[in-house]
Amino acid sequence: MTSHEWWHNADLRMATAVGDGWRLFNDLYLRAQTDADLLALTRRTRLAQSLTHAARTEHFAPHLGGRQITADNAEATLAALPVLEKDVLRHTPEAITTGLVDPWDVLKVRTSGTTGEPVWIIHDDTKLTESTAANLRMLDAYGLQPGLRVIRATADLRHGLVDYETMPFFGQATVLQVNMSTATPGDAAFLTRLCAEFKPDVLWGQPVEILLAALRQNEGTIDFPKFKAVLTHGDSLDARARATIADVFGCPHYDLYGLQEFGRVGWECPQSPGTYHIDEERVSIDVQGDGQVLITSLTNTAMSLLRYRPGDGGELLTEPCPCGRPHVRLTKIEGRKRALVADADGQLVNIKPLRLILEVQPLHRWQVRQNEAGCLDVLIAPESPADGDELARDLYAALKNTMRLRELTVRPVELAELTTASGKAPLFQLLATQEALSAAVVDNATSW
Ligand SMILES: [Zn+2]
Repeated sequence: MTSHEWWHNADLRMATAVGDGWRLFNDLYLRAQTDADLLALTRRTRLAQSLTHAARTEHFAPHLGGRQITADNAEATLAALPVLEKDVLRHTPEAITTGLVDPWDVLKVRTSGTTGEPVWIIHDDTKLTESTAANLRMLDAYGLQPGLRVIRATADLRHGLVDYETMPFFGQATVLQVNMSTATPGDAAFLTRLCAEFKPDVLWGQPVEILLAALRQNEGTIDFPKFKAVLTHGDSLDARARATIADVFGCPHYDLYGLQEFGRVGWECPQSPGTYHIDEERVSIDVQGDGQVLITSLTNTAMSLLRYRPGDGGELLTEPCPCGRPHVRLTKIEGRKRALVADADGQLVNIKPLRLILEVQPLHRWQVRQNEAGCLDVLIAPESPADGDELARDLYAALKNTMRLRELTVRPVELAELTTASGKAPLFQLLATQEALSAAVVDNATSW
């Protein structure tokens, strides 16, 4: 039987995935919370399938080819595999592609992670169904309902002052997006009324975006209604930011752990703050001796991500959680911590437009430094040093239009200058960090 061409229709696939995710929530994700045996069996069975699929790939075939993989030997087989480095994804993604999903149907996600180079990850529809189920479980634990209303704080100059969107895989949420960078005191009446009438349940954003929202609230640019919860995602949270968010918004705050390579995989337990339950139905997690996290996808049949090292640190807690859920917990997560750029007007803006331009250049390494509001110093180590000056001129022209700057320099440097004793220098060295933003909110002290 041949399928209708709508089989490939993205809107229909999205709606179907939400329905399938709801069933998966009922049949598995909900039950596994109180059934450790079901969780263990699901993990082992899915892992055996993942390993079997991986045996088809060029990268894993030498390690897995010809072996009989069962649910009983799956965990030992996984543990014997070499670590999968991001370099494999970046340079030879086809080597870990299974070929099991029609190229027309794969979902592509672009990521740059902590190391800065763009990488494409391909997924099958389980990315949508499993996310839907896992998010429903998390929202339930946080006392939130499907159809929730979310205010999303952004700081991206490419976004309008306000916008609407939906998050079908996040409990069918309706989202009001508010740009905290471009909001001014003149918008106060409009924004305050809009947010109040929207009747939000949740404030959502990266830690620096939520801190900027807190700053705007303190300045009187917006007066948010009371939220049921603040949810942060995307960056590791520092202790001061955590205290500031709790203080300003006066409601529960939960932090989520996710990666573009896998989607959200962990969420902070409401009964045990600072520890994150891992959705072990979807991923298997391990921490190496040096504290580096390794993650294995149990559901992605399009690409084999086994013992993948994203560059995040953490500590695994295997003892039972006070909440009773059998899922292992990750704590002391050390990953990316982004900051904001202070532009010539003193506005705080997201680094993403800069990153999108820089990460596709023929550079070994780059770094953006800010020592003064409105001024940026961009250091580049070109792959071909002879082209350094020309590349610097082109980059100057591209970067100067991304935000309002008083001074911009782009300088070719030796690679050694962007290398530290412990490895690569950070991509961004900025003033408006989580800590500095917290100080601005609490002490009214700005360092930009
Ligand atoms: Zn718990």
